[in-house]
Amino acid sequence: MKLTDSIHIVGGGLMGFGLSHPGDWYVYAVTDGEETALIDAGVGMEPERIVANVEADGIDPDTVKYLILTHCHGDHAGGGAYLRKQYRLKVIAPVDTRGWLHEGRTVDEDATNLARAREAGRYPASYRVEPVAVAREVDDGEEIRVGNLRLHTLSTPGHAARHMRYILEVDGKKYMFGGDLVFAGGLVVLN
Ligand SMILES: [Zn+2]
Repeated sequence: MKLTDSIHIVGGGLMGFGLSHPGDWYVYAVTDGEETALIDAGVGMEPERIVANVEADGIDPDTVKYLILTHCHGDHAGGGAYLRKQYRLKVIAPVDTRGWLHEGRTVDEDATNLARAREAGRYPASYRVEPVAVAREVDDGEEIRVGNLRLHTLSTPGHAARHMRYILEVDGKKYMFGGDLVFAGGLVVLN
């Protein structure tokens, strides 16, 4: 679903537009036509639906170079391993989370709150997040280049222990990718 020339929604489940698996939160694609970054990865169940939406929106899969995570909850990071393999992209994640998602080991289910969320019934009992290699960690006040676009990081811990939001400025307008920072009606969910 194209929002602007440079921003698409390519995933989102029950709480969104039903574009992909019901457990997915929004997955965005930010693109200048030469390079594309996905922002968040969905829950990791039926991640091929996200890939199909990228293509349906006319985004050249060869331009998908980055996956940028707002935080490491399963419904935002769970599809990371699949998308990394699919696009051979680089994963960019908030500072100090590389070890939580470490490829070759199991995901740190305490740090990512996955164990508690599963116990609470948020995910099926069999649900696991496949670990993924993080190429770059970003801290507050950094810049991420996606083609000729620039995303600026702003650390906003609270909903998750390591939580980053990303600000994109295009043609004088600012867009925020907040990833659970704030919900409809101004609701904030702290873990
Ligand atoms: Zn979350």
